[in-house]
Amino acid sequence: MKTKEIIKRVRELAKPFRISKGNGFRLKDVDPDNTLEDKPRAKEALVSGVTALTELQDKLYAQDKWAVLLIFQAMDAAGKDGAIKHVMSGVNPQGCQVYSFKSPSADDLDHDYLWRCMKCLPNRGHIGIFNRSYYEEVLVVRVHPEFLAKEKLPPKLVGKKIWEERFEDIRNFEQYLARNGVVVRKFFLHVSKKEQKRRFLDRIDDSFKNWKFSSNDAKERDFWDDYMEAYEEMIQETATKEAPWYVVPADNKWFTRVVVASAVIETLASLDLAYPKVDEGKLKELAAAKKKLLTK
Ligand code: ATP
Ligand code: MG
Repeated sequence: MKTKEIIKRVRELAKPFRISKGNGFRLKDVDPDNTLEDKPRAKEALVSGVTALTELQDKLYAQDKWAVLLIFQAMDAAGKDGAIKHVMSGVNPQGCQVYSFKSPSADDLDHDYLWRCMKCLPNRGHIGIFNRSYYEEVLVVRVHPEFLAKEKLPPKLVGKKIWEERFEDIRNFEQYLARNGVVVRKFFLHVSKKEQKRRFLDRIDDSFKNWKFSSNDAKERDFWDDYMEAYEEMIQETATKEAPWYVVPADNKWFTRVVVASAVIETLASLDLAYPKVDEGKLKELAAAKKKLLTK
């Protein structure tokens, strides 16, 4: 497939899952088991897509103007790690940075919540990946108020409107990034409660997967409905044209990977990526270097 065709195809694949306007978004409208596509055809698109991604990333790096930030959020066992691994299989590690955000450290808690993420923003020319992010601040922290209590905020600043305020700050922060050439794309891998149960049981029964299971993950299942409410509102409040969410069906891992890869490719393809132009002076310099190399 030619690059142009690939880009057209990945746009079609990603489009149904892109939310650029949060108003009216309902999580129940996205079926976690959706695969939309015929598996062999979609996989073929993924293979050609990864080659296209390699080329695009090379230009992104050489041009050194845009930075791309990909944010991944999901319930446990939704396949974040696998999606990141597969999508990035065609990417040059030199131009890519991955950060995982776990429970905040004492040093993190001694700062505002964006601080630890800001330190990890991608350089120009790079792709940055956040495996979890500041969005935990309106998810786990919302579902478990005891986390908010540990954030050492002056009590007078913690009111009824705190979530509304956080959404506003996140929207503003992402707009600031967009205005500075950091292209933000966010992925919610939407797994069903039933499929999560199946994957947890698999992690318990398969000794090679035991390391992936933590009993805390199973405990979080009790809060499933609270999480879904928090996710829905987060998407409604923070899906924007500059920083859209992709709500990706996650019950079938191959399909999750196809949609995520497609979205990453469409994002890079939407930028005016090009190798830097070589000017007269540089051409002369190259010619002189060649002459010297050939004579010695
Ligand atoms: P995996 O389980 O695949 O290794 P993970 O991202 O689930 O990856 P864990 O170490 O299991 O990693 O979990 C990280 C935990 O940290 C999650 O439960 C998450 O909700 C929590 N966490 C992340 N950010 C915050 C935050 N700002 N405040 C409180 N908890 C947070
Ligand atoms: Mg975990």
